[in-house]
Amino acid sequence: MSKTIIISNRLPVQLQIDNGKITATPSVGGLATGMKSVHSGGDSLWIGWSGLTDDEIPPGLAPEIDKALAKHGSSKVNLTSEEVDGFYYGFSNRTIWPLFHYFLEYSEFELESWEIYKSVNQKFADAILEKADDDDIIWVHDYQLMLVPQMVREQRPNVSIGFFLHIPFPSYEIFRTLPWRKEVLQGLLGSDLIGFHTYDYERHFLSSVRRLLSLEVSFNDIYMDDRVIKVDSFPMGIDYKKFRDAAKKHDENKAEERSELQKRLDMHKANQPEAKFLLSIDRLDYSKGIAKRLNAFEYFLNKHPEYKEKVRLIILAVPSRSNVPQYQLLKKEIDELVGRINGEFSTVSWTPIWYFYRSMPFENLIDLYTSCDIAWLTPIRDGMNLVAKEYIATRTDKTGVLILSEMAGSANEMNESLLINPNNFEEISEALFQAINMPKEEQQARNAILQKRLERYNVEKWANDFMTSLLNQKQNETQHK
Ligand code: UDP
Repeated sequence: MSKTIIISNRLPVQLQIDNGKITATPSVGGLATGMKSVHSGGDSLWIGWSGLTDDEIPPGLAPEIDKALAKHGSSKVNLTSEEVDGFYYGFSNRTIWPLFHYFLEYSEFELESWEIYKSVNQKFADAILEKADDDDIIWVHDYQLMLVPQMVREQRPNVSIGFFLHIPFPSYEIFRTLPWRKEVLQGLLGSDLIGFHTYDYERHFLSSVRRLLSLEVSFNDIYMDDRVIKVDSFPMGIDYKKFRDAAKKHDENKAEERSELQKRLDMHKANQPEAKFLLSIDRLDYSKGIAKRLNAFEYFLNKHPEYKEKVRLIILAVPSRSNVPQYQLLKKEIDELVGRINGEFSTVSWTPIWYFYRSMPFENLIDLYTSCDIAWLTPIRDGMNLVAKEYIATRTDKTGVLILSEMAGSANEMNESLLINPNNFEEISEALFQAINMPKEEQQARNAILQKRLERYNVEKWANDFMTSLLNQKQNETQHK
């Protein structure tokens, strides 16, 4: 019987080693949830890095770790700290991430990290080859592993390979600046199916393939040697039911069951029922436009002084990649901006920005989503942006306004939100004004449509659509031969 092999940089399992005792806990992230229907039972395997480098694994414990992971259908790829530096912090996050998010000036083109990226991709490919049979289905995830499809294809020409990119694919004019652009495309073209979040990313990819490799492209099929590679868009959804149920439960919580955060929020709402809470949640990443958002908030307060003491911005910035210098600089910039704006506008009874630099437990995320009147998300570039979808899913009475950057992949499916250009402060200021004053009926009418769409295209549907398309592609190809 054929099996499914999923491969991503990180395994969907958190490992903890305490006094020689190992615990493996399944992750609760969106990808892990979406893959549940694909990664279940004994006929699937997930391959990835465990999060521990070789020197962090106590001598002799490796077999125990393997056993603990096997219980979750997982198998680890071993990486040294040098490999993690060069492959993950280096090429993946200092070259590809900024380049694919159009931050050309942040992209570093270093031969050494490219070499490590290649050798680590080979390690992942070898881990697949060790386990894969010819009739297996392999699903490779994301920008850290773009060379894996071809590396597997070379050794197993008949196996079925799908690849999904979770970040944007940039326009040809940006992509062409990468010194190893052809190798990256060829790596991806080892797949039978290549998936993107949006039609635009798909178009950019096809254009690069045509112009850099001179391959024949017809609609969304690429002809290479005797193979046909299909390219398509699959916008990733959320676990709608999980957010919906959590919000419903939250609505029913009795006063004593409420979290400290919720009690604070309730207290402020009781004291000032007409005041609005604005919410933004992002990883602290330059692609998310947090600094611009703060500047836009200042612009708004100056333009509409009547809203001083009437709006409060909650910023939850989740620490991310903090050993990459750009992220450290950004942290400093945001700390200073928050300090300056709060210093400028605060009164004895009002602090305009509440700033949290941490990650929050799921329960507190739900507190924030359900308590804030407006979600304000302004990425400069974002592959998808799931926070936008999660906010809408938690609005059980359908109130709430989403202001969303048109540069987020999710904007394509969320036309009923207020879409803005994150560089246009005038437009943002108008959107804030509109959001603050939007009648309840209008909020509900917009959110009813959004919720219906999110419920239908949930993350499970995303994973199933991709798998179905991959299976069909393989069948079509076989019939052609
Ligand atoms: N999130 C989280 N803990 C937090 C804040 C956010 O787990 O403290 C989650 C959030 O629920 C969402 C994800 O992080 O599912 C962020 O996904 P998104 O697509 O918005 O951005 P990414 O970080 O993948 O670029």
